[in-house]
Amino acid sequence: MKDNNCIFCKIANGEIPSRTIYEDDAFRVILDLGPATKGHALILPKDHYEDFFALPEDTARDAISVAKKIAPKMKANLHADGFNLVQNNGETAGQTVMHFHLHLIPRYKDDGQNILWKPTEPGAEELDAVKAQIDG
Ligand code: AMP
Ligand code: ZN
Repeated sequence: MKDNNCIFCKIANGEIPSRTIYEDDAFRVILDLGPATKGHALILPKDHYEDFFALPEDTARDAISVAKKIAPKMKANLHADGFNLVQNNGETAGQTVMHFHLHLIPRYKDDGQNILWKPTEPGAEELDAVKAQIDG
């Protein structure tokens, strides 16, 4: 299902042009217009799902299969030194477009980006409590 008010639905379904590096029946992979690094791309499902939690399991699996096809080619042809797969859910986590997308971000030595987090130092008790909370 498409959402008529969603820009990524329009891009994924070809109503708005994009620099497409891969397409199949269910997905389009496009170059990000505000790339973190050279080659930064987005895997977009053609159907509208707001985020990872709304994504059916088979679509999630297929999105990873698309990444397995495209990321190695990008890494080799762009001579990247590393690669981040990033996927944001919710405004708090940095999601700005509310249509599921998986970021493919080639990394280069000294590319000046900082996509990693700041580690914290919880004690053993706190880790145990978190584990218990997740276990439910
Ligand atoms: P996120 O913050 O995870 O929701 O990522 C949204 C991404 O979409 C950002 O990296 C934007 O640069 C990118 N973006 C937004 N609009 C467009 C567009 N029309 N075409 C390509 N990329 C876009
Ligand atoms: Zn959409």
